[in-house]
Amino acid sequence: MKHQAISYLRYSSKGQARGDSERRQEESFTRWLLQNADKYIPYEPFRDLGKSGYSGGHLASGGSLARLLQQAKDGLFEEGDLLVVEAIDRLTRLEPLDAIDLFKEILKTGLSILTLEDNQIYSTESVNSGGIALINLVIKSQASHEYSKRLGVRIKSAHEKKRASAEVGEANKVVGAAWLKNGKLFESIANLVRHAISMYLNGYGTRAIAIEITSKIKSCDAEVQRRYKKPISARTIRRWLDNPALIGNWKSKYKLIEGCFEPLIDYSTWMKVQNQLEFRKANKIVAGAVKHYKISGLVRCHHCGSPFTVRVQKPRPSKAAPFGSIEYESKSPIKYLNCSKYLKSGGCENNSTWPYQALDYIYERTINECLLQIAMELPISKEFEKKINNLTESISRNEEKLIRVRRLYIDFGDEKSEIEFLQLQNEVKNLREQREALILSNNHSRQNDGGEFLTDVDAVITCEPWELADEVGRRKILKDAEYSIIIDGKDAECWYSDVRWRLIKRNQRSRTYTLEEIQENNQSTNKYIAINDEGHVMATANSLRDLSNLLDTESDKVKQH
Ligand SMILES: [Zn+2]
Repeated sequence: MKHQAISYLRYSSKGQARGDSERRQEESFTRWLLQNADKYIPYEPFRDLGKSGYSGGHLASGGSLARLLQQAKDGLFEEGDLLVVEAIDRLTRLEPLDAIDLFKEILKTGLSILTLEDNQIYSTESVNSGGIALINLVIKSQASHEYSKRLGVRIKSAHEKKRASAEVGEANKVVGAAWLKNGKLFESIANLVRHAISMYLNGYGTRAIAIEITSKIKSCDAEVQRRYKKPISARTIRRWLDNPALIGNWKSKYKLIEGCFEPLIDYSTWMKVQNQLEFRKANKIVAGAVKHYKISGLVRCHHCGSPFTVRVQKPRPSKAAPFGSIEYESKSPIKYLNCSKYLKSGGCENNSTWPYQALDYIYERTINECLLQIAMELPISKEFEKKINNLTESISRNEEKLIRVRRLYIDFGDEKSEIEFLQLQNEVKNLREQREALILSNNHSRQNDGGEFLTDVDAVITCEPWELADEVGRRKILKDAEYSIIIDGKDAECWYSDVRWRLIKRNQRSRTYTLEEIQENNQSTNKYIAINDEGHVMATANSLRDLSNLLDTESDKVKQH
């Protein structure tokens, strides 16, 4: 009698890596099955798409692994049936102790686990006798948990490395300014900066300089033109002028490190420029500054696609802070966002108003995933992601059907099923080819778009360092990665997250906004978050009632002080 082999696949990252990882896992299972066709027949495959083994999302109700466990507990499998995974980390990246619990649960149902990576079989027997198998499991699950953690801090540690290398003088590892390349002057841009400095010392304002430099760029070489596709702004000019890289120093987040780069100007010119900057600032000679916000341009309307614009309102006076009082003056203005098309002409039905603080919270919760994916060379087209997802899901749907039909046709010799089986087989093959072609074409278009700094981790970190980039630079990085928060009435979502948010209401007593955090496919673990006017999270809870209790205790505490 043949035993059943259940293939389980999980991939947590989105995009191309997901396509690759899935294909790799599928192939190793198919290869193994072919070699062992005399002993095993395939059972319905289980897949968790886009679930993280780190947080246990695949175990939550609705996850395939949870379904598989339930079937095992219901006694659908027999001693000797195999759960086949590529490696132990496909099953879990939970903390080792929790991982052991999961293994125990699986093994107790009578299933054994085969890891294709090292051809190890874990069964109750092998784990109980000898103990080596168990130790092996512990070590491996520990390693995979660590791996997930490391992935999460990857960007941070790369920044650390960059800073360290700057301190030992490896200036080629950092980029401190636009006019530098590997720590040496990049003449095409250095010339522009020299010109800007001389204009500034001759009394021109930064806005006039920006216009002049923008027109000069039109006759520059292709590389410069590619870097500055948009007109230079007065802000960019100001950033050039007060950047200590002009005299070879690097201003890291922590301290100034001298002598990192080839200097562009001498010290006395530098001092002249700095004095001028101070003088003009003191005398308020500043070009008309438009106020931008961290999330400007990153929030969009689901209905019409227009950006949400930030609006600022003077705070409302209150009894405790009457108009004109110090208390009133120290209140921060109220910032909120609306669909710009709705505001302009009423041309959009999306009339919801979102507090800035709530969107800022969503932004902070989602950009790390975006940066990580940029750093991991994942595709940056949302369109592509959608197509791949749809294809992958059709493939697994059809494959599940295929297995059911195959049984009808093999076990019962049903002729109609044979035809359906062949059709389905063809369909799956077709879909796979489509996906293959899509991945290839995406790779191709990525090579051609010339977006150097968006394609790999070193580039993101060393060429356009996130931490060194100002708000404008950061928004550009995010925009190029098609990052956006999409607003549909009271609902918000971001492509870089499996979580959605709903704006609930403002709690007047505690002066907080409430967001509901909704896990996709899993209504049970929703979370409620209270965010105050400063954008700080004041409390989180699993129900609105718990949240309001927490907030009450919190405001009582404040009153006692
Ligand atoms: Zn709209």
